[in-house]
Amino acid sequence: MDFMKNAKITLPNILTAHNIASITLLFALLLLFVVIAIAMADRRISPGTRRAAANTCETTVAVQSGDTLSKLLTAQGLSGTDVHEIAARLKHECQISLLRADADQLVFARTAESAPVDKIILISSPWKHIEITRGEDMGWSTKIIDIERDTYLVRKSGEIEEGDSFYVAGTRAGIPPGVLADVYNLLAFEIDFERDVRVGQEFSVLYEEYFADGEKVSNGAVIAISFDALRGNVKMYRFKTNEGRVGYYDENGNGAVKALKRTPINNARVSSSFGNRRHPILGFTRAHKGVDFRAAHGTPIPSAGAGRVIRRGFDNGYGNFVRIRHGGGFETLYAHMSKFAPGVGTGTQVRQGQIIGYVGSTGLSTGPHLHYEIIKNGVHVNPMTVKFPAIDNLNEENKQEFIVLREKIDDAKRMLGEYPNLFVKM
Ligand SMILES: [Zn+2]
Repeated sequence: MDFMKNAKITLPNILTAHNIASITLLFALLLLFVVIAIAMADRRISPGTRRAAANTCETTVAVQSGDTLSKLLTAQGLSGTDVHEIAARLKHECQISLLRADADQLVFARTAESAPVDKIILISSPWKHIEITRGEDMGWSTKIIDIERDTYLVRKSGEIEEGDSFYVAGTRAGIPPGVLADVYNLLAFEIDFERDVRVGQEFSVLYEEYFADGEKVSNGAVIAISFDALRGNVKMYRFKTNEGRVGYYDENGNGAVKALKRTPINNARVSSSFGNRRHPILGFTRAHKGVDFRAAHGTPIPSAGAGRVIRRGFDNGYGNFVRIRHGGGFETLYAHMSKFAPGVGTGTQVRQGQIIGYVGSTGLSTGPHLHYEIIKNGVHVNPMTVKFPAIDNLNEENKQEFIVLREKIDDAKRMLGEYPNLFVKM
């Protein structure tokens, strides 16, 4: 985060520039930003290092189903002896014995159009190339090249508009689907997406993009999330502890991941909430002890938290149901399942997010849905409002380091908020 360190010192100066000296500094800084941006942009379009050698003819072949190393090498004019030696070296020196169709690429390099192949590059991932080079003695040698991964930060922000779900607003803000799913999973610990999402709420997400040789390869991890929930701004930051654990924490270093999830099924809509209601089948009013989530028949149901299954059975009302005991006096219950997940029975230890069964309409139910209950110390509580214990708060030592990182991340967020196209390195 070298660049961000600089920004940390300079940013307040931009914001409070009131005199000539500050304005001069401002222009110097803008110039610096532009130079860095151009330098970074230049990286993106610069040809890869492997193309640096002059007067080299290159042919790139994407490995397809049915291709073998032998077939591809022979097609490029390599002799049986060459093929044999290259295959043996790849196997013993690089632990590669098979090419992967639709994944691996081979680049064949020659000094001239009619010259024999003198270098082969096996591109097995954006981060790993294997160079196979013909030596003076006509023998071959291999070299594994780890491609340096450049990580840049990207900030996307948006606002909830009329009729939006968080998914719709997040997609409109340009958050890629995979990143958005991670954000949703994290926010699900804090936000009831059915009731806490209102028009005008703002959100922002900071995430990584990975580059190799100046080209974007993939999106990386979510680094920070901010969401203006009804009860205040929810913030989450990614942090790696001294012990090497990676987690998400609020601005004070308390674990953002909670013992239980309010909404076990992602993006499901609440069809009946906690409290008194007229029962759709029984016809009289009685307390609804849980929350109903509408979801398609067969939708997998993940456990809301880690725990032990204390009951898996059938009940006339609940139909197929699973009850799980968690820490802190909490239990959860999932009803009307079409079927149970294999291997999940009474006594099974389950992880948070582990699939325990599938949505159905067994028992007293008018259509496929998940009936979800949370019981705290023997009393039914409203899953949408109950406070959950954090399971991963930072100790003092980690907290100190977390605060330093959090400030750097906040600086990066501010900077990308003002200059969205800036290349900020992590
Ligand atoms: Zn229900």
